Amino acid sequence: MRIVVQKFGGTSLGTAELRREAMQRVWEAVDQGFSPVVVVSAMGRQGDPYATDTLLELMREVNPQAQGANVDLLLSCGEIIAASLFAEGLRALGLAATALTGWQCGITTDDVPLGARVLRVHAERLWDVLRQGRIPVVAGFQGVTEQGVVTTLGRGGSDTTAAVLGVVLKAERVEIYTDVDGIKTADPRLVPDAPTLQVMSYREVMELAHMGAKVLHPRAAEIAMEEGIPMQVRAVQHSTGGTWIGHGVKARAAKGGEQVSDRVVTGIAHLGGRAQVKVGGAEDFHASGLAAKVFQVLAEAQVSVDLINLAVDSIVFVIDEAKVGPARQALDALGLDVQINTGFAKVSVVGAGMHGVPGVMARVVNCLTAENIPIYQTSDSHANISCLVLEEHTPRAVQALYREFHLDSI
Ligand code: ADP
Ligand code: ASP
Ligand code: MG
Repeated sequence: MRIVVQKFGGTSLGTAELRREAMQRVWEAVDQGFSPVVVVSAMGRQGDPYATDTLLELMREVNPQAQGANVDLLLSCGEIIAASLFAEGLRALGLAATALTGWQCGITTDDVPLGARVLRVHAERLWDVLRQGRIPVVAGFQGVTEQGVVTTLGRGGSDTTAAVLGVVLKAERVEIYTDVDGIKTADPRLVPDAPTLQVMSYREVMELAHMGAKVLHPRAAEIAMEEGIPMQVRAVQHSTGGTWIGHGVKARAAKGGEQVSDRVVTGIAHLGGRAQVKVGGAEDFHASGLAAKVFQVLAEAQVSVDLINLAVDSIVFVIDEAKVGPARQALDALGLDVQINTGFAKVSVVGAGMHGVPGVMARVVNCLTAENIPIYQTSDSHANISCLVLEEHTPRAVQALYREFHLDSI
């Protein structure tokens, strides 16, 4: 059986016309002799009746502090509605299809609310459906704990479902259909002309995604990489083009005379809604053991931290604005001096090839300084340099760095 996983994002299912396009892609896969496994997201974006953000808003009207299993259960419904309708749409076209929830698919996860990780997949039912010659249409973004609690995989998590099923079913490839024709050197919402990267390594995609490029969930690239399942990101309206992701895809492309890559910088990513936390009030955070306590209480409160600067007399880091409440509560219990400022964004220059290349940091700082964009904090790794800037400066910062690193002509 030649299996291809085809994932359709919410943006690709928002209208009847787009759903017809999506079903056409499934039809083409069948026509080419594949057994497709379809994964769908909740249809549309905020404001559309069954979109994830709409469901979240509905829940917040009932309880603004709502969190935990009840929220996961409600959010999982968006994908179930999409799967049921999509499967029936395929049947109307004459293709046998069966809609499955995440738990009917045997997707078992840990119990972290709104961000569970897949532990294993009991795929017997999925195989049964495939062996019957039917197309499974799986509700993305969801699973179930060993205790039977419904979970969701974090925003954008249908990509993860697709990658997990690709690995479990040993698919020939995983196709991710979305509202852009591939992964670009910057978010096309901020840089409309940004070119599409034709081939990328898993690592490049993971870096870009971790830094905020939401076109693909970073876990999806990570999972596909473990088994070397090739992925393709492309627009739902086209049966060709897009971005190929895999091991050695660059080499293959080079052989065919296509794009060869030795790029230092792959792209610019950005992530808004950041808050900067400054912790003081201790003479020596290390000797007193308070530094370790600060991070321990944050971990217990499920707050992840980023851009961490540890000094003897202060600790500065960045969190998601949505976590300001739990972070403040956790830190106040330590009796320290805590300042939290919201309204920041993280803008990152990403490239697996920048390791050891001198001058990249100098160019980043020069470029933002020339644009009069203050940098509040930075961090770097072998494959990225991130700057914390005011959220209102994000578009200008992204556009300036895009020009600085010539990402229009990659
Ligand atoms: P879907 O509903 O298909 O999962 P998403 O909204 O999650 O779609 O992801 C697609 C969006 O990702 C695009 O509309 C685009 O604005 C955004 N995006 C951010 N960075 C990039 C990038 N580097 N290349 C392409 N798209 C990007
Ligand atoms: N519907 C979920 C979300 O909006 C999952 C996804 O789209 O991948 O985050
Ligand atoms: Mg997405």
